[in-house]
Amino acid sequence: MRVLEVASEAVPFAKTGGLADVAGALPEALARLGCDTTLVIPAHREALARGLPIESTEVSFEVPIGTRRPLARILRCTPPGSRVDVVLIANDDLFDRPTLYGGPRDYADNAERFIFFSRAVLEWASRQQRPFDIVHCHDWQAGLVPAYQKLLYGSSPALAGSRTVMTIHNMAYQGLFWHWDMLLTGLDWKYFNWQQMEFYNQLNLLKTGLVFADAISTVSPTYAREIQQAPGGCGLEGVLAARSDVLSGIVNGIDTAAWNPADDRHIPRHYGERDFAEGKYAARVALAARLGHAAPDARPLVAFVGRLVGQKGVELVVELLGRMAGAGRAHFMILGSGEPSSELDLARMAASFPGTVDVVIGYDEGLAHLVQAAADITLVPSRFEPCGLTQLYAQRYGSIPLVRATGGLVDTVVDATPETLEDGSASGFVFEGFDAAALEHALVRALTLHADGPAWQRLVRHAMRLDWSWGTSALEYLRLFERTLAAAPVRTG
Ligand code: ADP
Repeated sequence: MRVLEVASEAVPFAKTGGLADVAGALPEALARLGCDTTLVIPAHREALARGLPIESTEVSFEVPIGTRRPLARILRCTPPGSRVDVVLIANDDLFDRPTLYGGPRDYADNAERFIFFSRAVLEWASRQQRPFDIVHCHDWQAGLVPAYQKLLYGSSPALAGSRTVMTIHNMAYQGLFWHWDMLLTGLDWKYFNWQQMEFYNQLNLLKTGLVFADAISTVSPTYAREIQQAPGGCGLEGVLAARSDVLSGIVNGIDTAAWNPADDRHIPRHYGERDFAEGKYAARVALAARLGHAAPDARPLVAFVGRLVGQKGVELVVELLGRMAGAGRAHFMILGSGEPSSELDLARMAASFPGTVDVVIGYDEGLAHLVQAAADITLVPSRFEPCGLTQLYAQRYGSIPLVRATGGLVDTVVDATPETLEDGSASGFVFEGFDAAALEHALVRALTLHADGPAWQRLVRHAMRLDWSWGTSALEYLRLFERTLAAAPVRTG
C-alpha cells in the first residue's frame, strides 16, 4: 500500500504538541508493516535548524493562491535509521518563521500558509509517477487536502484512485478564518455553504476536511463518540454525527524507546516489573535531592505532570490539595507550566504545605521521566482528553494512573474494582464527575489499595506489562486504510 501522510509538524523536524509525535511515529510504524510511506510537512525554520540530513532538490513549482502563484521548493530527507521518505515544502516567506503558528497571537496569514501547504502537497503528489492509495491528513492545517483531491486533482493518475482519511487530534482547534480567505483556496464559492466549508460565516478548514474525506478518524474510540455530541464536537457535532458510518477512533501509541524504565537515561536505576520497588526507591532518592529534601518521604507519592490549562483539570488538583494535603496521607509532586493563575495557585499550595506538596513550574522532559519513575500514582483529571499520553507513560513506569472518565482515558485505564482486581484487568483508578470530591474519593480508594502491598504489586505489574507501542495502533490504521480502499469514495455533490 502506498501511503502519503500529511501533517504540519512531525518529530524529529518540528513540534508544538502531540500531533508531532503521531506524525513522526505513525509513518515509521506503517513502513515497518510494509507500507510504502511518504510524509509531507512544511519546511519550517525549526525543521531546517535541527541538523537533519535535509537535501535540496531541483523540483519547484508554482502554487495558485488567489491571484498569486508563489513558488514551492521541494526538499527531501530520510532521517537516520528511518524507512520513511520525508518531503518538505519550502517557501521562505511563509515558513521561515521563529515559531510554527505564531504566538502568543497566531500569525495573521495562517490561512494563506496552510492553504498554500495543502495545495502544494497535491501539486507535488499529482506529479508523481506511482499512484498513492491513501492520503492521510492530520488536523485543520491539512484540512483542504481531501477537498483538493476530490475537486481539483482527482484526474491526475497519481491521485485518481486515492482515498483520503482525515484524522482529528483535538476538536478545539479547527482552523477558522474570515470568509474572504475562501478566495485563496481557488475553490468555487458554491462550496462555501453550511454543509461544506462554512461555519457561521467563516471558513472552517477542519470542517472542510471532515466533509470531503472518505474516512475520518480520531485518537480514541471514546473521543470518537464524544465529538458526535455537544460539547465534545465544539460545534461540528452535527457534521461528525452525519458521517458516523466512516468515523472511528484509534488510540495513539507511545515511543517505547524514549519511555522505557529499563533503559532511561533520566532515571538513576533502571527497572522492570520484577524490581520496580527498588527502581522507584532510587528515583525517589534522586527526586528528593533534586527538590532539596534531605531524604525521600516514606509516604506514597502522588504526581501530576502536564500543561497547566483548563483542559487538564488543574483546578481540581488545586482543590484536592486543599482538601487532602493537610491530612498527610501522601506526598504530592506537581510539574507543569501554563496559565499564570494556575501556576500561582499551585505555588501557594506548595508554600502552605512544605514537605508535603512540591511544585516545579517549567517544562522539563528529564524531570517528567524522573517523576513518573518515582511516583506511585499519577493524576490525570482532565476535563476532556482526545487520547492522552501521560496515563500511558505512567502505566509503563508503574505509576498507577488516576483518571477522569473522558476520551482516551476511558479506553486506556481499567478502574480497579473488586472484580477487575480479581480477574487481573485493573490498570488504574477512574472517576466520573468533574469535581474535586470525586477525585478525592478515587484517590482515597487508591491510597487504601496502596496500603495492601501484594494487591498493589499485582496492579503495578499488570499496568507495566500493557502494550501501548505503535505497532498495534499502526495495524489498526492499516485496517482502516484497507476498509476505506474497499469502500466507495464519498460523494461530494
Ligand atoms: P497534551 O498533548 O494534551 O499536553 P498528553 O498527555 O497527550 O497531553 O501529553 C503530554 C506530555 O507532555 C506529558 O505526558 C508529559 O510527559 C509532557 N509534559 C507536559 N508538561 C510538561 C512539563 N511541564 N514538563 C515536562 N513534560 C511535560
